[in-house]
Amino acid sequence: MRLFVFRHLIAGALIATAVCPISMEAQQPAQLEVWKSELADLIEGRRQFTANMVDQIFSYGELGFQEFETSRYLVDLLRDNGFTVEEGVAGIPTAWFATWGSGEPKISLGTDIDNIPKASQTPGVACHLPLVEGAPGHGEGHNSGMAVQITAALAVKEIMEREGLPGQIQIWPGVAEELVATKAYYVRAGMFEDVDIVLYAHVGSNLSTSWGMTPGTGLVSAMFTFEGFAAHAGGAPWRGRSAADAVNLMEVGWNFRREHLRLQHRSHSVIYDGGDQPNVVPSEASIWFYFREKNYPQIRDLFAIGDSVAQGAALMSGTTLREVRIIGSAWPGHFNRVIAETMSENIQRVGLPEWTEDDQRFARATQREVDGPETGLATQISQLRPALTEAQRTAGFADDIGDISWNVPTATLSFPSNIPGLPGHNWANAIAMATPIAHKGATQGAMAQAMTLLDFMVRPNLVESAWDYFRDEQGSEVQYEPFIGPSDEPAIEMNRVIMDQFRDEMSEYYFDSEQYDSYLDQLGVSYPTLRQPDGRCTIGSVSEQGTGAR
Ligand SMILES: [Zn+2]
Repeated sequence: MRLFVFRHLIAGALIATAVCPISMEAQQPAQLEVWKSELADLIEGRRQFTANMVDQIFSYGELGFQEFETSRYLVDLLRDNGFTVEEGVAGIPTAWFATWGSGEPKISLGTDIDNIPKASQTPGVACHLPLVEGAPGHGEGHNSGMAVQITAALAVKEIMEREGLPGQIQIWPGVAEELVATKAYYVRAGMFEDVDIVLYAHVGSNLSTSWGMTPGTGLVSAMFTFEGFAAHAGGAPWRGRSAADAVNLMEVGWNFRREHLRLQHRSHSVIYDGGDQPNVVPSEASIWFYFREKNYPQIRDLFAIGDSVAQGAALMSGTTLREVRIIGSAWPGHFNRVIAETMSENIQRVGLPEWTEDDQRFARATQREVDGPETGLATQISQLRPALTEAQRTAGFADDIGDISWNVPTATLSFPSNIPGLPGHNWANAIAMATPIAHKGATQGAMAQAMTLLDFMVRPNLVESAWDYFRDEQGSEVQYEPFIGPSDEPAIEMNRVIMDQFRDEMSEYYFDSEQYDSYLDQLGVSYPTLRQPDGRCTIGSVSEQGTGAR
């Protein structure tokens, strides 16, 4: 990969001297300023287009690996806009990589598309009101990232086409990010081998970016499946060996061991399969763990402890540990200083959206609903956060963009489509995600991202500097080694049963952008809707009891 830096230098030099005047460093910094103003106007003019993408993906509400409607919609949209799309990437049915343009550089835009179990929520209503009870929903806000990336890409493409600028734009989805389950496979499949820069985007509550190690963790997520022997649990329990016992013993054993692990670690589990019915000694059971730590050796060691606890549980219960399957993995991320500083300049230029008093009232009501601080929406633009010290890296989340960040210079744009101070991975985080808050946040994000994309497209020296940082500062002491091995396969069957259960009912709520101006329109939600004075949570007014109530 690092060879491409040199390839770039040569290409940049040739273009600057002989072909056409695109090296902004050498010639026309003022031209870049003009183009950036144009980008802002182009994206301003696409507000409805951006909002429609946010709403459409929100309405599909698909869990990881089952993003079939979402991916179909996005692939069609990108093909209609001149992109070439490769589908089924890395053996993942809902994964695709879209490319437009030719020549160098190749700049890659990625963002997640999956959502959260049991987070179904009527948008625009500041209290818990599922659209479909028990169904998944966008309780992380992953419905907004593609709107940012695609709007940004199409605006830059328009200028590149008009000016005849060389370069390629690549767009890809973070499939099953909530399972941190695909990006290491994208890397393994070589999807970033000819990529120069990755501009990632993730929903947040301010317009911001950062560089250095991420505050959070990396992780391995693994499913431990035990095999026992079935017997009549009443008639002949001594004949049986319970796989569910092994699952319980592993959980108990891990929780004893927890006291003697590094304080910085985090781990959590769910019993994925606890057996079928009580009168049958479970012959099969599974427990699913997330093992989080701060760096690669620590994560690997933590996972190894999990494995030994699992073997102990099998021994105690007279069962066998049949399979340890890696469902997901993520390196702790490291973001590129040069990209982040460039992005930050564009962030300062673009600024935050203009929130109305309705937006702020709605945000405070949502915060109140989940006992969060009632701060409303961000009104101060965030400043570029410098690299954290090891002691400052106290957060617990992870994102498999980490794996990509150790292969290509990468930074993340966080954009203000959601409300600050919510619990995360919760229906409350879906409340704003198809409202004017999400729409405005996505437009603002698209402006900052488009300007950054153009910066790297026309300034070869900037690409070179980003690789210098990547090679000399970020990567001088660390060698990327994936957690997945050559025989690991993506867990593409995950969530299929849940989506099969809910998809029909959810499809009644798919957004029809030809008939309605917005998803709120389609749902009949007036914005903002707060909890009724009598305490009920409904989309109708109190006097319309029984009509709008769900
Ligand atoms: Zn996310």
